[in-house]
Amino acid sequence: MTDRENLFKSYMNAVGLNDTVENFINGKLTPGQGEKILLVDPFTGIKLTQYCDAGSNLTENACTASNSAQKIWMNDLSAAGRGQVMQRASLEISNNLENLAKLESIVSGKPIRDCRVEVSKVAEMFSYYGGWTDKLHGEVIPVPSGHLNYTIREPLGVIFQITPWNAPIFTAGWQIAPAIACGNGVVIKPSEFTPVTTVALVRYLEISGLPKGLVNVLCGLGGSTGQSAIKNELVRKVVFVGSPITGKKVAISASESLKPVVLELGGKSANIVFDDCNLEHASLGAQAAIFSGAGQSCVSGSRLLIQSSIYNELTSMISSGMKSIKLGDPLDENTQIGPISNLKQFSHIQNIIKIAKKEGANVSEISDLPKGGYFISPTVLTNLNNSSTPAQTEIFGPVVTAIPFETEDQAVAIANDTSFGLAGAVWTNNVGRAHRVASKVTAGTFWINSYKAIHVSSPFGGSLSSGFGRSSGLEALMEYTAPKSVWLDSAETPSISFGYVA
Ligand code: NAD
Repeated sequence: MTDRENLFKSYMNAVGLNDTVENFINGKLTPGQGEKILLVDPFTGIKLTQYCDAGSNLTENACTASNSAQKIWMNDLSAAGRGQVMQRASLEISNNLENLAKLESIVSGKPIRDCRVEVSKVAEMFSYYGGWTDKLHGEVIPVPSGHLNYTIREPLGVIFQITPWNAPIFTAGWQIAPAIACGNGVVIKPSEFTPVTTVALVRYLEISGLPKGLVNVLCGLGGSTGQSAIKNELVRKVVFVGSPITGKKVAISASESLKPVVLELGGKSANIVFDDCNLEHASLGAQAAIFSGAGQSCVSGSRLLIQSSIYNELTSMISSGMKSIKLGDPLDENTQIGPISNLKQFSHIQNIIKIAKKEGANVSEISDLPKGGYFISPTVLTNLNNSSTPAQTEIFGPVVTAIPFETEDQAVAIANDTSFGLAGAVWTNNVGRAHRVASKVTAGTFWINSYKAIHVSSPFGGSLSSGFGRSSGLEALMEYTAPKSVWLDSAETPSISFGYVA
């Protein structure tokens, strides 16, 4: 057994899991029953463990358990009681932050400093949504008929959530917390590449007092386990975070049984820099936007639109700035960029860089990369226009295409010339221009003189190929509940008549 395998096992045990990947169903760690899946350490390219896809029988068990526990969650606890359990969960996550972060770092290849922040944000999510459980009230609507008409917001039942590998525990918390705050049960399937921190998280939720089986984790493949959960008749809604191509498959499958879907998909966000900005800030912002997390972020600023007058200066600043970025072992405290999370993604990024060269790109990168793992250099592509393959394809790596523009209108036109609508940013000291550009760019999230700021209290989501529906904030509570309209006839003489309903 290698040192990394041993390390993996020791952190699995530290968060209360067995040596290998198991599902968490009805409060029990349960081995999968399907085909074998290999988990590889992205830092070394060497095997960490092997496990079995959950399969359809376990999927059925998970949905049944969640359906039963959801009734207990709603009927046996008060709304405030549910909130208290979620506050305890937040504390439990904080108390186990270091071990969860280390395990996340080993499996995903993400730097430990980023993993700590992400786990602390998960704790914040349970605290934030725990505060909402007893504040989900409806409205009284002054209908003209004299009825008392009011709405209540009801949970949907069992929610099936599918998550990707780029921020595994963060995305799990982001979707589980609002779902259970609204009184739902959850079955979640994390990416087959990064399942373990989601299992550990859900185990901590149950330790905090969540009814056994309210949240279940299925580890394994989308085509088998994922599809079988989408089709399960107990599932009332499907929430998917991942690529547009898979999102389409998920939406088509869910539509067969008329299940509603939230799709949180990819992006090709424009980071727009005007010559009236603070160039130093913009240069740092542009690097953080694309290089942090090795660019494996749905909102990464992968198209850098630069006003022509500062194009050469800014691209040189970024190219020289990236030489001081520290790539290395994700567990090293000083590492700023780790490896790409898995071989499939590593090959995809390499392929796009190859295409960029064929299409005439000048490529600026650093030469001294750590050996052995899936490392890609921070890369700046110049001499390409917005219709080039790298500018139109989601690369999901530390690769930015720098495109010049002349005028504000041109910048907005290029920003919107994409199939995505997830995020964007503008760097300028002209307040009017900042707001004009923010209003004209198609994006669910937009930053002014900033990048990547998000918070659980603010809505997040996209349009076009970036999906639909919203996560986080008050909006997530709307996604995870349905309004019921209740009519009470208060007239002395009942106003019932045939043909009244419109
Ligand atoms: P992916 O689409 O390959 O996989 C996502 C999930 O879908 C995984 O759990 C996978 O097992 C599952 N899956 C695969 N095939 C399936 C099928 N046929 N049916 C059901 N489930 C299936 O995406 P990925 O490579 O894991 O993640 C990267 C993508 O996620 C990028 O496009 C990125 O932009 C996107 N993403 C979006 C957000 C957002 O909030 N908008 C956040 C993070 C990542």
